[in-house]
Amino acid sequence: MDDLPRVGLLGGGQLGRMLVEEANHLNIPIQVLDTPNAPAKQVHYHPKDVNGSFATAEAVRQLADECDLLTVEIEHVDTDILEEVSHGGVKIEPSWRTIRIIQDKFEQKQHLKRNHVLTAEAVVVNNMHDLESAAKALGYPLMLKARRQAYDGRGNHVVRSESDLQDAMTSLGTRGLYAERWMNFKKELAVMVVKTKDGALTYPTVETVQENSICKLVYAPARGISREVAQAARDLAKRAVQAFPGKGVFGVEMFLLDDDTVQVLEIAPRVHNSGHYTIEACGISQFAAHLRAILDLPVPEESLELEQPAVMLNILGGATPWSHQTLAERALELPKARCHLYGKGEARPGRKMGHITVTAPSLLEAERAICPLIETCDTLQR
Ligand code: ATP
Ligand code: MG
Ligand code: MG
Repeated sequence: MDDLPRVGLLGGGQLGRMLVEEANHLNIPIQVLDTPNAPAKQVHYHPKDVNGSFATAEAVRQLADECDLLTVEIEHVDTDILEEVSHGGVKIEPSWRTIRIIQDKFEQKQHLKRNHVLTAEAVVVNNMHDLESAAKALGYPLMLKARRQAYDGRGNHVVRSESDLQDAMTSLGTRGLYAERWMNFKKELAVMVVKTKDGALTYPTVETVQENSICKLVYAPARGISREVAQAARDLAKRAVQAFPGKGVFGVEMFLLDDDTVQVLEIAPRVHNSGHYTIEACGISQFAAHLRAILDLPVPEESLELEQPAVMLNILGGATPWSHQTLAERALELPKARCHLYGKGEARPGRKMGHITVTAPSLLEAERAICPLIETCDTLQR
């Protein structure tokens, strides 16, 4: 491990923070590009860290000058610069082509379809006329989505009827948009996929619960689904990720439909909120798996299996700038709860400030244990 490539990371938010924490355990130096007090920089030091934005060409070039391999904690990066530095010999994992396709949610869907991966029907919307035609084709309700820079549901607008059309267009403004067929799902599932030099491996199928389009809870394993459905979700996630070049961890969000079929909602070309449970519940975490995958270090398949069931609860910004702290303090009172705070300072409502994972010998016990925290969380959101 002493001849590892010099690794640079675009983005030092909470995902970057958990990546560098894992890198520290393995003596892997990482050069982080983000603002000086970003969450990752608070727990890490590298003399060649770059201060600036991962969206700025000059800062990315500066990072690339000192690195052999670049990876990302966020897909909203300038892929033209990544393409440029890759021609200069810097490796990008996953590939800049993958990041470029995935960062445009409409292109991502088209790419999945071309690769015969089931996903919701989508139609480009550039103006009111396009939206009216899309509504005729897809019916109501439908989901109007921004193609780019979308996360935590910012960039999505539910169109319930004709009278919502104008509001939807106005609220999403002048960004490139697309309309997506409404999915009456039974559950939302997610699978983390690890793409190594040798192929793709999967973590177990988990259930995600979103509230206001933001992930609130993750149940590992997913509750109330058959072994076949759990396997089908893993197979679909693997097939979806295999359609994209490059190594590393990918998060695949899926819908479980009424007929028990599984469909891809979207893919993240990076570690993901629905994989945080792996820190406590699996042999190696998604963060360790990502580093190992991009550096061609061993990833034993067994180490991705669940060692114990887990429930993860996100700590979101609440009604006041510090109300999320109350939830973290309550978590400290629970014997099996592990609390992760991200060092973001003051919160705004809905912002991801940390997460709590409770593990137990059975999922039911983990659910019972975390119950009081969910109640506290709901009170704080009001
Ligand atoms: P993320 O933070 O996961 O990147 P995002 O902003 O990219 O979120 P989506 O994943 O597209 O948003 O959607 C957020 C949530 O909205 C989904 O988890 C799901 O609950 C709901 N949703 C999205 N698309 C549809 C759809 N076509 N039909 C029904 N519900 C949907
Ligand atoms: Mg998304
Ligand atoms: Mg999503």
